[in-house]
Amino acid sequence: MTVKIALYGKGGIGKSTIASNVAAATSKNGYTATIIGCDPKGDSTTSLMGGERIPSVLSYLKKGETIEEEDVVHRGFNGVNCVEVGGPEPGIGCAGRGIIVALDKLSKKSNVVEESDLVIFDVPGDIVCGGLAMPVRKDYVDMAYIVTSGEYLPMYAANNICRGLNVLDGELGGVICNSRLQNEKQEDEIVKEFASQLNAKYIAYVPKRDKVQEYERQGKTIVEADSKHEVAQVYQKISKEIMKTNKPETPTPLTDKELRQLTNNTIKQKQN
Ligand code: SF4
Repeated sequence: MTVKIALYGKGGIGKSTIASNVAAATSKNGYTATIIGCDPKGDSTTSLMGGERIPSVLSYLKKGETIEEEDVVHRGFNGVNCVEVGGPEPGIGCAGRGIIVALDKLSKKSNVVEESDLVIFDVPGDIVCGGLAMPVRKDYVDMAYIVTSGEYLPMYAANNICRGLNVLDGELGGVICNSRLQNEKQEDEIVKEFASQLNAKYIAYVPKRDKVQEYERQGKTIVEADSKHEVAQVYQKISKEIMKTNKPETPTPLTDKELRQLTNNTIKQKQN
């Protein structure tokens, strides 16, 4: 059975880092993993490809060229299959339709999705965009996972994504906290409480460590570079949770007032 998930969250929250590391961790556990990056920048997979950018499906199609599997499915670290959909130049058009076209072409030339144990869609930014809605709407994925930090705006985006999932009848596998703040305990508590109020499983807390960025600059995930590192171990935990395919939940988004109260109350409790 292929587990197909999408990672959603505010732009810049670290979805690609999480997607690459979870794919790497899953491959180390003996599974076949595929990551499909829908970022117009085409850099979802670079840390699995030794820092190299791979050509995107849409870059071939834009030039009117036909594609073969080997053009667009690249083997990265530990055999992880890496695919970049690509997209329009910033501000021009929308990759939502591009994802459909790219995946349609890919499926005619490759069985990579069917033959993988885990497929991760790493999709851009915001629930209003077709790029985000498409994997859920087209049943490309079984469930979504949301990435947020404990800051207000990423949680606001995460909450909006839950509203979007409800509209799309999409299901939520859980919430991952990718830490951005200095006060780790507080951030962990805030996102844990947020997940609980969303009726969602809290999957894991990923601490912020300089080593992760350092290895990314070298073109590696931390799972590849230092599998014993505490952050690599967290990615192992996330991979195992995802592969368990726990029953997804229908999220219950908060009102804006509830969300503000949640963040303020949790911070106040910690200060007292
Ligand atoms: S709306 Fe979404 S899918 Fe379309 S270009 Fe913008 S980010 Fe990409």
